[in-house]
Amino acid sequence: MLHSNLRTAQIRTRGDALTGGRPSVLLVEDSRAFTTLLAHRFETELGVSVVTCNTLREMRQALAEGRGRFMLGVVDLNLADSPKGEVLDYSLAADLPTIVFTGTFDFHMRESILRKNVLDYVIKDNRCAIDSLVNAVRRVLQNRNIRVLVADGLMAENSEAVQMLQAQQFLVVHAVSVQDAMEKLSRHRDIELILIDHALPGADGIELAKLIRRDFSTEDLRIIGFSTRENPLICAAFLKAGATDFLYRPFIQEEFQCRVAQSIDTLAQIKKLQAIASRDFLTDTYNRRYFFERGPVLVQHCLARQEPCCAVVLDIDHFKKFNDTYGHETGDLVLKSVARKLRQMIDGEVHLIARLGGEEFAILLRNMDVREATEYCNLLREEIARTTVIFEDEELSVRVSIGVALVAVEENFDNYLNAADQYLYMAKNSGRNCVFSDYSITRLFAERQKAG
Ligand code: GH3
Ligand code: MG
Ligand code: MG
Repeated sequence: MLHSNLRTAQIRTRGDALTGGRPSVLLVEDSRAFTTLLAHRFETELGVSVVTCNTLREMRQALAEGRGRFMLGVVDLNLADSPKGEVLDYSLAADLPTIVFTGTFDFHMRESILRKNVLDYVIKDNRCAIDSLVNAVRRVLQNRNIRVLVADGLMAENSEAVQMLQAQQFLVVHAVSVQDAMEKLSRHRDIELILIDHALPGADGIELAKLIRRDFSTEDLRIIGFSTRENPLICAAFLKAGATDFLYRPFIQEEFQCRVAQSIDTLAQIKKLQAIASRDFLTDTYNRRYFFERGPVLVQHCLARQEPCCAVVLDIDHFKKFNDTYGHETGDLVLKSVARKLRQMIDGEVHLIARLGGEEFAILLRNMDVREATEYCNLLREEIARTTVIFEDEELSVRVSIGVALVAVEENFDNYLNAADQYLYMAKNSGRNCVFSDYSITRLFAERQKAG
């Protein structure tokens, strides 16, 4: 009997051979239709491996076999051998973070489930239940990579906010004062959300919100203020100070969860839109708008540290011919291949590459003086000249001209690009497929003088 059960659990370990370090979810549900659908969606949409069980007995066995392997349990409360939700107690006793999926639900059940510290519950009472469950699991998986700061004056183990966020699998950082919060914010640059108690020792939480907003905008991080219900004006004061949401204590778990999730989602949407708005669709480099937004910040940074920096404008030679001779689509392929080469050769974490428009790219090369930048651009030019674009059976070669200007003193950002553009103009005039800069011109003169 034991043997046949073992086989059952093993056979139902979908995709296990392919798991390769993927997180595993234990799905305990007695309806075959739900199990098949959910397992499929978890695997394909969330990239997890799923072990399914139909009964409490199978679940025990799967837990015993895969001890410590499961990251999350999704359990239906009522199974043939678990009429009173024993399956949930078993799951929690095995320290498995658990989401409940249930057909029967009332106020008392809610109380008893939440008291047991489940991550979430989804009621099977409508057509969206499956979607809700997939989203609940997705959220838990995502939370494991999201850092949240809680600023209250309590010990972490006494902080309701810390406990609830940890239960939701967030990476939680805890601060006990304004100063502590500011220090932790500068130490953990990936914090996305801050929950601030109004009753913060030292200064009140509203002061902390104001302080944070001096350095971080609502696009950088979200703030949820919270307080007891004593003074109804605290909520307004928090929002005016820059908080993006507010909660009353004692927390209601569902409200807490939803507001935290909405804050995280809003930030993710902002970041996604920012990413779309800053990129050039065809070449997947940054676009002109982003270059003019980010460029001045980087220049300031370099000038303040007295690091050399160069503005570069690169233009494809006789690009119009590609369009005229081989068609616009081939022209697009040429643009993509030049952009790909630039991305491969230039460290985008350090330098800034953007398509200015048409067949013209701009680059800010940091930590390079004009000699280094000129030599580096010559390498780029040679490397691009080695790349070919295939049109039918023909190999088309691409050439570029480049202008390089040193960013020496603080000026209007346009001026740096205008200077690089002038050198580009010289490069075009002297036959194309070359790099021009102050350094290259000086060298050219020196060589000519030497030659007599
Ligand atoms: P030069 O060597 O002097 O730079 O000459 P060029 O032919 O490269 O420059 P010109 O400014 O005469 O032509 C640029 C052409 O690029 C004209 C325009 O139709 C084309 N172009 C602009 N944007 C795109 C694009 O997104 N895709 C394609 N395929 N062509 C584009
Ligand atoms: Mg051109
Ligand atoms: Mg041009």
